[in-house]
Amino acid sequence: MPKDISSLFCNLVKIPSPSGKELEVARFISNYLRKSGIYHYTDRVGKTIGSNSGNLIAELKGEGPTIMFIAHIDTVETGNTPIKPVISDGTITSDGNTILGVDNKAAVAALMEALAEIKRKKTRPNIIAVFSVREEDGEMGVKYLKPRTMPDQVFVIDGSSPLGTFISCALGDTLFEIRLHGRSVHVAYAEKGINAMKAAGIIMASQRLGKLDDGSYVNISKVVSEGKNNVIPGEVLLSGEVRAFNKSKIVRRIKELKSKARDACRITGCTYDLLINRKESIQPFNSIAKEGIASIARMASKQAGLKFGMVRVKGTMETNVMQGRYRYMIGISRGGKMPHSKSESITVKELESLKGLIVAIADSVQKMRVSKRVP
Ligand SMILES: [Zn+2]
Repeated sequence: MPKDISSLFCNLVKIPSPSGKELEVARFISNYLRKSGIYHYTDRVGKTIGSNSGNLIAELKGEGPTIMFIAHIDTVETGNTPIKPVISDGTITSDGNTILGVDNKAAVAALMEALAEIKRKKTRPNIIAVFSVREEDGEMGVKYLKPRTMPDQVFVIDGSSPLGTFISCALGDTLFEIRLHGRSVHVAYAEKGINAMKAAGIIMASQRLGKLDDGSYVNISKVVSEGKNNVIPGEVLLSGEVRAFNKSKIVRRIKELKSKARDACRITGCTYDLLINRKESIQPFNSIAKEGIASIARMASKQAGLKFGMVRVKGTMETNVMQGRYRYMIGISRGGKMPHSKSESITVKELESLKGLIVAIADSVQKMRVSKRVP
């Protein structure tokens, strides 16, 4: 068993775990949990999403509410070049040839050690810890997660804001296609044709693009047509995405796109279909952070000696695909710098603080439960 959290972290990053090939690292975690006497099992999600491992789920029985922590165990690299962690002056980096894997092995190491520590406590809430698969490639093992007990609060550990920062919102994106149908004829018979490219041009010129004043984003990234020089284009495809922190803004932008398409078709004589790619769209994550879960986060940050903060992130997290399933859910920043790059780093102190924060969350839930009983 490793001596401290930095050696546990280094051992974890040395094990390649690209998305879909998490089995070896899951075995390593399982081994650690077994030695620590922590009950755990692997679910069958691997079969559903094409990974050689399912989500590894650990459980600690306690009293009162159930809190669930989630940390994904896959990393962005193929693992073909071994990761060689280097510790210098309290900071851990790779040897410069690979990523380090702070995203998200720092969270994994901290969660493993925190579980062992929480287990040694006399009183604690019920804990579920999920070591999840395929976060980085968007397949998201947590999408199919079915914990045996419904958690009261869910904490997803990921993201590289400073420690003590919690994530209350994450952008969602909706992918759309506008298919414009005109009539394609040889240019010599242009009067009989309906130019779908013209409709596309009107949409491009009239639709507001980029960041809009309500904080949503609209992007049209593709305009596709057969494009023969002597043919009036009869079919044109526009595609892009809308991003926002809440669903209603996305719906509003899609409606706006629809009305622009309708106008363009009225002017040109085209017709259109607007299609949403539901399979690849991701709903926004919006925590009900004003309620209990934010007080737990604040209380725990204080206990762990960290400056509490709440941010919205522009990326998507596992929280997005679980939105609506768990009432109280929040993201916890794992710290570190430059994720997904060869200059990725984290300090030993950050690893220790993250572990301390997870333990403090369990303590805070316990304290809040007990204090409510006092008349
Ligand atoms: Zn991550």
